[in-house]
Amino acid sequence: MTAPNTLFEVENERELPKPVSVPATLFADIVFDRPLDHAYTYAVPESLVAKIGVGKRVEVPFGKGGKGTAGFCVRVTDVQPTSSYEIKSVARVLDDDAIVDEHLMKLTRWMADYYLCGWGQVLHAVVPAGVRDNAGTRVASFVEPLPKEKLPNPLPTVTPQQKAALDKLKKENRPLEVLQLARLAKCTTGVVAGLIKKGLVRKFSERIETPAGTPDTDTEDQSTTAPLAEIVLNADQLRVWEPLRNALETGGYHPFLLHGVTGSGKTEVYLRAIEEVVKQGKEVIVLVPEISLTPQTISRFKGRCGNLAVLHSHLTDAERGGYWRRVATGHIQVVVGARSAVFAPTRKLGLIVIDEEHENSFKQESTPRYHARDVAVMRARLEGIPILMGSATPSLESWANAERGNYAVLSMPNRVASRPLPAVKLVDLRHEPKTPGKHYAIGPTLESAMRKTLKEKGQIILLLNRRGFSTHVHCEACGHVAQCAHCDLAMTFHRTKNSLMCHYCGFETAPFQKCPACSQPAMRYQGLGTEKLQVEIEEKFPGNVCQRMDSDTMSKPGSHQRVLDAFRDGLIQILVGTQMIAKGLDFPNVTLVGVVNADVGLHLPDFRSAERTFQLLAQVAGRAGRGEKGGQVLVQTFTPDHPCITLASHHNYGEFAKLELVHRKQHKYPPYERLARLIVRSEKEEAAATFADALAGTFKEAMKRATTAQGQAPVRLLGPAECPVFRLNNFYRFHFQIQSDSSAVLHEVLRNVLTLAKPPSGVEFQVDIDPYSML
Ligand code: ADP
Ligand code: ZN
Repeated sequence: MTAPNTLFEVENERELPKPVSVPATLFADIVFDRPLDHAYTYAVPESLVAKIGVGKRVEVPFGKGGKGTAGFCVRVTDVQPTSSYEIKSVARVLDDDAIVDEHLMKLTRWMADYYLCGWGQVLHAVVPAGVRDNAGTRVASFVEPLPKEKLPNPLPTVTPQQKAALDKLKKENRPLEVLQLARLAKCTTGVVAGLIKKGLVRKFSERIETPAGTPDTDTEDQSTTAPLAEIVLNADQLRVWEPLRNALETGGYHPFLLHGVTGSGKTEVYLRAIEEVVKQGKEVIVLVPEISLTPQTISRFKGRCGNLAVLHSHLTDAERGGYWRRVATGHIQVVVGARSAVFAPTRKLGLIVIDEEHENSFKQESTPRYHARDVAVMRARLEGIPILMGSATPSLESWANAERGNYAVLSMPNRVASRPLPAVKLVDLRHEPKTPGKHYAIGPTLESAMRKTLKEKGQIILLLNRRGFSTHVHCEACGHVAQCAHCDLAMTFHRTKNSLMCHYCGFETAPFQKCPACSQPAMRYQGLGTEKLQVEIEEKFPGNVCQRMDSDTMSKPGSHQRVLDAFRDGLIQILVGTQMIAKGLDFPNVTLVGVVNADVGLHLPDFRSAERTFQLLAQVAGRAGRGEKGGQVLVQTFTPDHPCITLASHHNYGEFAKLELVHRKQHKYPPYERLARLIVRSEKEEAAATFADALAGTFKEAMKRATTAQGQAPVRLLGPAECPVFRLNNFYRFHFQIQSDSSAVLHEVLRNVLTLAKPPSGVEFQVDIDPYSML
């Protein structure tokens, strides 16, 4: 083992007085893609002194047997480490130039501390694989003519073919790849090799981009680009633009929360800000939910603001690597992308924009479990630049930050062109007349509104946030429920695929004719998903085209766009879908939006379920009435008196936030208290339970230490308890929730627990700071 140093405070570190002398003057601290809380020090051999550098990757002997392992260099120092461990040497430096700059080093360091994971893990996650393995590039051999004074004397004789090749190269007057020269001179590479051997040309190697690594940034299909009609900012937009413009001119960290109702023209404000920053010769990162990365959105950015890179999930490693390099070399002014775009290696970042800042997809659900909005705010702070977060329904975290004065609120309460927000009507499902013998999802009120809309040649969007055909399959004889073989979750029946599926782990099995428990042919398929809804619509509205949009129908790249194009062209009258259809769509001919069941998701065991329901309803309602024809929204619900449903129907975000914040305060939930979750899991139930119990003792110990160190800041610990979904993906799971109004105390307790707790083999734990998934 090589020497750990104390970048992190490591308990029980054995620091012995007598240093081992090594014949080196320079040392490098290296971190690895492991959940380790410290860096390891290596000696830099003389031959690598000129090459080593912070932000480069190196290969070093590590672990048992000293296997060559890649890691990131995070510090170079001439101070000899005082440790009794044997100091090994860096074997190779893998990068010519640092791939992570100083800013990103700081940001990732902060992430490791805040999200309690290894710095190396963060660096590994942040740098795309295509950069790490140089995908999309290759090392090419070039030749160039030598200046006269460097030529051999006397000049060697050359063959006619060699002379022709040499002439060609001189005529080009630039280095050519060996292959390229051979092609131009119509000779073999052997001829060029002869020239090299005779000392008439110089050969050198250089890493270059291949076509796969050169994403097409400026010449992408522009056919969807709308003609650039000059937009004159309206009164609301001008009012919010003023402080923004000031902040962009003066620079420095200025966080803004742009609260604008759907259709208020937020994107136009982003565009102005981006144009301003690009004009200053700086770069912008724009974070949007993955689902909003449609050509429609992108075309609005294109042509307005320099070279654009769009980072979406369908890029290959080579393309991702290519973008990274192009951003790092200053060839890109605007980076638009989902979550991970927050790490774009810009050179002179001038602004970060986050659209739909409340979106849950900004939270990453694997290590490092970061929230891109929070990381973006930290990045803006570290780089001293403005950040503009926009939403019609800001997250309560951001809203509370605004109320505390941490963010400046910019408010746009009206839609552009004085268009009204659509009228929202609640339809109480408890009182809707039923059709005898039928289980219709669409009640008479919604059905007649749909008929009227279709008659008037309007288009309809229907939201049902549940995919599949039947969401609940059980036996009427014995009550057996079809459950996933690997998870404590009910299986959903998918008719198109004719299979039962687990929406968490993807497990699939053939539907049962007979109950697997009692063998009675009494299986009942109940519960409503988008697939069944589509069948009902096709039955009720023959002659109209109904398209379903959910992750089952939209898995292929481009399918999303094809459907939206067809919808825009009027080839589809009714668009049915999950939350996928709730966001960002701007179709002026949509005059009716229906919510089939607003209560889906409202009763989940998650303190954010009301907030999510409100956001979803407000977002989907925002799809109606975006054109001159106006529009209305019908919301079917069993709980029309639930405040989040009532207030969403009145477009009253302010009142909702006020009420929900009172509730959060009472229950000591975020944004009032900090929350972290620790999950213990094992494929062996007994092992998980035993370790969870032991961990409870560790927590007590850690809390005692933290409270003495930090005064008496209260920490509440809940657990261990079984997770709401106890078995997931074959793992039995117990969790702890820990809350405190001091983030410092919370972190200290967890850090103590992490150093003290040593899970036995087969048991692991995960720490989730500011968790979003509570299942
Ligand atoms: P939001 O992002 O708030 O939902 P958008 O920025 O998408 O709103 O604007 C909605 C529509 O209004 C877009 O079609 C946009 O081009 C248009 N728009 C925005 N600002 C103006 C303006 N000042 N004058 C006229 N049209 C505008
Ligand atoms: Zn499963």
